[in-house]
Amino acid sequence: PEHLLQIDHLKKYFPVKSGPFRKGDQYVKAVDDISFSVRRGETFGLVGESGCGKSTTGRALLRLIEPTAGRVVFEGEDITALPAKQLRKKRKDMQIVFQDPFSSLDPRHTVRRILEEPLLVHGIGSAQERQNIVNKLIDVVGLTQSHLQRYPHQFSGGQRQRIGIARALSLQPKLIVADEPVSALDVSIQSQVVNLLQDLQGEFGLTYIFIAHDLSVVKHICDRVAVMYLGRIVEIASTAQLYESPQHPYTIALLSAVPEPDPDLKRERILLQGEVPSPVHTPVGCAFHTRCPVAVDICRAKRPELTETDNGHQTACHLFSATFFGRKSHLAKSG
Ligand code: SF4
Ligand code: MG
Repeated sequence: PEHLLQIDHLKKYFPVKSGPFRKGDQYVKAVDDISFSVRRGETFGLVGESGCGKSTTGRALLRLIEPTAGRVVFEGEDITALPAKQLRKKRKDMQIVFQDPFSSLDPRHTVRRILEEPLLVHGIGSAQERQNIVNKLIDVVGLTQSHLQRYPHQFSGGQRQRIGIARALSLQPKLIVADEPVSALDVSIQSQVVNLLQDLQGEFGLTYIFIAHDLSVVKHICDRVAVMYLGRIVEIASTAQLYESPQHPYTIALLSAVPEPDPDLKRERILLQGEVPSPVHTPVGCAFHTRCPVAVDICRAKRPELTETDNGHQTACHLFSATFFGRKSHLAKSG
């Protein structure tokens, strides 16, 4: 199938700790009913401010945390329904690279041991075969054989992220969720790691879900992008569509913060008023209405559904729904 991964109505709610004055059940709606598909071989961006639910989405779709509701279909198979043992086998195909490569690498183990671990867990190869695989992995991410005897603290941030990537590759996955893989790195190192990820994608036919907190890195690596706000997806588009004709007011504001060297494309900076509301008390209607510069009455009453507005371009905003204006809004041009 064209789609490697399909997410249907995924939710992840965390119960709020109970206290003496707690009335009824309250939940942090970290991921609040989102749906999207990822094509084989593409890089799909998941973008939003911290706390918008993008990391939770990445973990829930891998079932590193259990979704509260919804389905995750990987290569035609509903992995949300898989018992633990079969899920473990599937894990070979779906790996994650974390933002902070230091805390995710065991400081007590050599790099060789760290890279061999997933192979041991999955019972892959003889000792000699595993050694060969590890030797190849370290090579593929641009480090050397001598690095295998060292410990994580002996490496720079960029090198540690290369080790994290090598570990994710060890089981020959089809999908890698990269959760802000370069955010913790020096700017000078970021593009090297991004280039490595792109090279590996070509070499191994990988599909990426690339999580980021702003739209600048995403532009260079992603084929399509989903923008998240308060646990919901507000817009999905190809990267070109998103940068040339963003539709959702939140996306337009995020884009206005991206440095643009071309003066013709310079956007007026839009500063959003107020704070992101609590994910426990999500605003009724459009979750963005408390900060939206163009909100209208219906926004406070009715939740806008993600709707196709243009070829493959989906937006969750009443100003773009056919029932509101019967046509595309002027907003698309105002960015
Ligand atoms: Fe703004 Fe209304 Fe659109 Fe939400 S639905 S983004 S509040 S205009
Ligand atoms: Mg995060």
